[in-house]
Amino acid sequence: MVTITDIRARRVWDSRGLPTIEVEIRSETGKTTRAIAPAGASTGRREAVALVDGGPVLGGKDVTHALRQMSDVLYPALVGITVESQKQFDRALLEAGGPESSSPVGANTTTAASLAMTHLFAQEAGVAPWQILGDTPTTLPRPQIQIMGGGAHAAHRVAVQDFMVHPLSATCISDAFIQAAEVYRAVGDILAARGHNSGVADEGGHWPDVSDTEEALDTIVQGITRAGLKPGVDMGICLDIAATQFYKDGHYVVGDKTYTAKEWVTELASMSSAFPIVSVEDPVHEDHEQAMVWAVSQCPAVIVGDDYLVTNPKRIEEVPNGSVEAALIKVNQIGTVTEAHDAVVASRKRGLGIIVSARSGETEDVSVAHLATGWQADMLKVGSITRGERTAKWNELLRISEALGNLPMADVLSKPGL
Ligand code: PEP
Ligand code: MG
Repeated sequence: MVTITDIRARRVWDSRGLPTIEVEIRSETGKTTRAIAPAGASTGRREAVALVDGGPVLGGKDVTHALRQMSDVLYPALVGITVESQKQFDRALLEAGGPESSSPVGANTTTAASLAMTHLFAQEAGVAPWQILGDTPTTLPRPQIQIMGGGAHAAHRVAVQDFMVHPLSATCISDAFIQAAEVYRAVGDILAARGHNSGVADEGGHWPDVSDTEEALDTIVQGITRAGLKPGVDMGICLDIAATQFYKDGHYVVGDKTYTAKEWVTELASMSSAFPIVSVEDPVHEDHEQAMVWAVSQCPAVIVGDDYLVTNPKRIEEVPNGSVEAALIKVNQIGTVTEAHDAVVASRKRGLGIIVSARSGETEDVSVAHLATGWQADMLKVGSITRGERTAKWNELLRISEALGNLPMADVLSKPGL
């Protein structure tokens, strides 16, 4: 049982230099916890909506309305209540906020408040957050580590949003990071030798100074080899295509080429055969259920739904059979920890793999490392192995790993039936 004696929000800053919401909650026993809402750049149209001001200030992203909703709506409804579970707190949060989870306080505020409450329950119990989120873990999530950015995270320099590596043969998480960091360095050296090492994308991966997707993949495979690792044996590749971003007038527009949905899926399938690709996220437009089915049946890689599923348990239950094989889970896509956990449960029921994910706009908040461990996710995706807002999460995972006696990582996701 936790009695809330104070709840407040403040404007803090994310990795894109944009304001976001931090919520701080205090309990009757004098404990205080905090959490910060992240923000996406390539958001799904069905995501819960963050409350931002609009208008000319800070590109319309300031959060003064959300801060006011905290003091005017949430504070009076939540201070003084006693809750015994996350579910009960999240219900009170949503009831205070209105019938829609995103309205009127916004999914940014509910996400920060809900996560702060997870931390408070843990503190009250005298344990780490991962310990109250599920049964004692038997595995740690296997990381997807960004090597090169793209899409909306790199001014659309290349169409594909995320080129990540995925350690396959490493036997523990600390070795997995060493290998991924060697690949990151090797790819940096290769780009520099071409005169193309010109900074980083939003999630800390190298800037995609390449002419197309194949060149990016080639460069990463070369980096894996240069790091002394075998592509496809020691190190795989995960892609987030974020295809909605480059779908225009009925076609997928990639550089100077345009593809119909069928042609684009065929292209992705042949890319997945030619390179050691383990998973492909959002291969087609978020509304193209039939094209998702084609992707699942034609691509040798595991097909992941991010914008396609938006961490929404109802949508996860309802999408057509055979249209997706793993779910990306982001708390702020749905608004509370309870609903995101419901999405995990709904995904497991449908036989989907689980990838807990940070957002492209991030902060020092480390909650995702706890969620991924406590929920026994198959994978964790937080961006590259550079920049503090990313390494904060990887480093927290290393601490959790140590506390758990260096558990093995989850099995590499494979296509159901293969
Ligand atoms: C993603 O698409 O998986 C992602 C992390 O990016 P964003 O936060 O911009 O949606
Ligand atoms: Mg995505």
